[in-house]
Amino acid sequence: MSLQKPTRLRRTASLRNLVRETQLSVSDLIRPIFVTHSNKRLAIESMPDQFHFPLGEIEKTIEESMKLGVNGIILFGIPENKNETGTDTINENGIVQQTVRMIRKSFPELIIITDACFCQYTIHGYCGILDENGDFDRKSSLKQLQKQAVSHVKAGADFVAPSCMIDGMVKYIREALDNNGYEDKGIFSYAVKYASAFYGPFRDAANSTPQQGDRKSYQMDPGNIREALKEAQIDEYEGADIIMVKPALPYLDVIREVKNQVSCPIAAYQVSGEYSMIKAAAQNHWIDENESVMESLLGIKRAGADIIITYFADSVASLINNKFS
Ligand SMILES: [Zn+2]
Repeated sequence: MSLQKPTRLRRTASLRNLVRETQLSVSDLIRPIFVTHSNKRLAIESMPDQFHFPLGEIEKTIEESMKLGVNGIILFGIPENKNETGTDTINENGIVQQTVRMIRKSFPELIIITDACFCQYTIHGYCGILDENGDFDRKSSLKQLQKQAVSHVKAGADFVAPSCMIDGMVKYIREALDNNGYEDKGIFSYAVKYASAFYGPFRDAANSTPQQGDRKSYQMDPGNIREALKEAQIDEYEGADIIMVKPALPYLDVIREVKNQVSCPIAAYQVSGEYSMIKAAAQNHWIDENESVMESLLGIKRAGADIIITYFADSVASLINNKFS
């Protein structure tokens, strides 16, 4: 007698497909893209197969993603000039604003999300503006963030994604968007952003390493989960449309708890370090890249993510389209 024999349902691929509880789909994926003023494509050394794209190549690379069914991107600008207050963040001809205007025209259906922060635009690399004593100036930072958000949606972005972890950032952006007639434009909030070692390769990519100290005074402590719920609830209350948890894989329990507590869709960001670890191990033939990527993303989705931001977006989309499982 074997009343319960779980392996009965694992015997063939069709049976496994029939009872699979979590499925990844191409529409879950958002692709991060770095854009620069440079006139040629530059490889990002710590992130194999990822590039800084010149403006002239952006349309082509987005077209390739869209052919695979990836209809959403999050855009990071690498400005030409950095200064104390990151004025390129609000410049109509800043790299992000120029790019968004161009791609909005070519791809009316594309979901365009723009990262809104200061670290890659300021000399000090802080995610905000500092006063003359070198202390964080919250008031000026929020004002500048409002201008940045309005300039992004004016160029054609659908969502602004504030990643600076400034208290009140969502409320201030919502107010600025509404006051400027952009009630339909959304906020994709980096609500739960941990002070993580896994951002290392991104900082190389975005030239955004802090010039002194670290970001532990504003990004979250990896030991905390109740604090994550507080952050998520505050942002939902202040008007966020989508709540993000970042990084993804070391924080699956956080994704699940946040999902249970707020009613906004939940996005998880599989960050640069998560990407580069898989790439590096696969390049050494220590793990199989495709299988590891699919398993990681499935785990992130199973934990509760509705949306996954991943540098693997295009490759995962082709695997899904080719029925890889
Ligand atoms: Zn930042």
